[in-house]
Amino acid sequence: MNKHLFICIAAVCLLCGCNRHNQSFQYNVDKFYDLEILRYDVPEFDQLTLQQKSLIYCLSEAALWGRDILFDQNGRYNLRIRRACEALYLNKDKVQCTDQDWAVFEKYLKRVWFSNGIHHHYSEDKFLPEFTQEWFVAACDKAGVTYDAAILPVMFDPAVMPKRMSQQDGVDLIAESAGNYYGEGVTQAEAEAWYATHKDNSPEPLWIGLNSQLVKNEKGEIVERVYQVGGLYGEALEHVVYWLKEARQYAENDQQRLVLDKLIAFNETGDLKLFNEYCIAWVKDLDSRVDFVNGFTETYSDPLGITGTWESMVNFKDMKATRRAQLISENAQWFEDHSTTDPKYKKEEVKGVSAKVITAAILAGDCYPATPIGINLPNANWIRKAYGSKSVTIDNLMHAYNEAAKGNGFNEEFMIDDEIRAIYTEYGAQCGDLHTDLHECVGHGSGKLMPGVTKDALKEHASTIEEARADLFGLYYLADPKLVELGLLPNTGAYKAGYYQQMMNGAMTQLVRIEPGKDIEEAHMRNRQLIANWVLDHAANKEVEIIMRDGKSFLQINDYEGLRRLYGELLAEIQRITSEGDYPAAKAIVEKYAVKVNPELHKEVLERFAKLNIAPYKGFVNPVYKVERNADGDITDVALDFTEGYVEQHLRYSRDYSPLPSVN
Ligand code: ZN
Repeated sequence: MNKHLFICIAAVCLLCGCNRHNQSFQYNVDKFYDLEILRYDVPEFDQLTLQQKSLIYCLSEAALWGRDILFDQNGRYNLRIRRACEALYLNKDKVQCTDQDWAVFEKYLKRVWFSNGIHHHYSEDKFLPEFTQEWFVAACDKAGVTYDAAILPVMFDPAVMPKRMSQQDGVDLIAESAGNYYGEGVTQAEAEAWYATHKDNSPEPLWIGLNSQLVKNEKGEIVERVYQVGGLYGEALEHVVYWLKEARQYAENDQQRLVLDKLIAFNETGDLKLFNEYCIAWVKDLDSRVDFVNGFTETYSDPLGITGTWESMVNFKDMKATRRAQLISENAQWFEDHSTTDPKYKKEEVKGVSAKVITAAILAGDCYPATPIGINLPNANWIRKAYGSKSVTIDNLMHAYNEAAKGNGFNEEFMIDDEIRAIYTEYGAQCGDLHTDLHECVGHGSGKLMPGVTKDALKEHASTIEEARADLFGLYYLADPKLVELGLLPNTGAYKAGYYQQMMNGAMTQLVRIEPGKDIEEAHMRNRQLIANWVLDHAANKEVEIIMRDGKSFLQINDYEGLRRLYGELLAEIQRITSEGDYPAAKAIVEKYAVKVNPELHKEVLERFAKLNIAPYKGFVNPVYKVERNADGDITDVALDFTEGYVEQHLRYSRDYSPLPSVN
């Protein structure tokens, strides 16, 4: 009966005439500097039960309450700067400056919101205001805005805290990084020594340092300040916990309730054993339609790669697309067995690759406004090994990217001819989805390490190599007839859209994200250039090349099968490097292909791109959750509103969800 009812509702919904189905959804919201703000739709939300909607609502509140944490993790002055700028912004009438001055100031504040601080979210470089310190001081004076004078050099002096995270060889990475994972005066050597003594070497280790800041006490000893209720960031975590407890009553099943209980207890105590239990419970929760991440998760922003940045994403299963990823997952062993890697590096049994496609319902912390398009957690290797991991791709965000990009002139400028443009228009989005699925669902989970080799053997190049490995796995199989056989691609030529896109992006067009004269630093960008430039360098028979036409460079693929062979060769080598923990080889290949930029090509790409007036980085605004309650306070309805603008959203978040003191 339920099934029948579901079909009926679905049929009605398609014909319901509600405006989101009939009118064009407004994906583009705002644009400033190199950033564009988009809006994402949340399809199928209307089809969820009230219980599921209520659960999402409570989890979205838990997500929003953590926003301040990331600002503070990204730099100890960030909250002070954000608050001073917001206070000024709200007193525009008292400032009485020119519209032009005001626009410049507004742009700076928009950028601070986007980066959750004063450093570019991707390049890690501090961005400087286009207004002067004198203007800012005078404006604050007129508006009666008080602020800590210590923020002035942090905002205006290019020499102060120039990098959010340094990766430079031979410097004290902590001293050279503005990130707030270590207290003032803590050196890299001291922190490393502390981690070395406290490291848990048991078979089910605690992730020591995941949820703490290392500081010096009065005696000069290194001590931990733990992120927990009653501890560091406790004022925010209290609210997070409150909403996780609210969410508990709407849990879909006992396993999900257990996940919430463990996470609540972990936030209350900071006990890392509870964090492990939470991760295990979370991996095992495969039945719930609604899922979430909430807490200290990715460690990319800590220069030592140990402490997690706070993030949250609430989501629910996209049923149709999940079937697609599941098909890939079910064939994980076939993919493992047929890849080009040496048999001794293959997993005899690929397990625990859960695949699903999700619809994001709220983004927060390090997932907002810029966001990943996939999630692959937990990060602890022993849990992944023993219990598996969850891997998801986020369809509605990818859909928003694609929709927002339509008609911006990019493909006309950079793709070589109408033929490839036609293939790309037809199959580009499909190949993109499939490649992400292959990357997340089978790529990362493939292969094994040789005995004695640890995950951190490749040190600072580990992320680049790992991302390259997953990307290559996906690229190699994108052209496999197996995908057509599985019904995932309509014909054996469709993959060309994905191949062209990868090569063009990796070798040329992703350079639009790099400032002139700068190296590539971010791991995913490094991996993409590594693949493209290695392939170009090894294309002995001109399988693929960059040609000049009318003074412009174009990527040209002459032999798609040959290109696939090259991807396969590189996959084998990257797998070997990973399995053997071959640090010198990792360093050599990354330094040769991934880091340095060809300056002439870079200049050309930037000039061509500038003419198109497109922002290279995208982020999102969230929908607004509107809740109705009855007299008893029970939730009777949850609806989504998609009209809030970027500035309004951030001002509201800062007004309604900002519990941390300015100095933590
Ligand atoms: Zn990845």
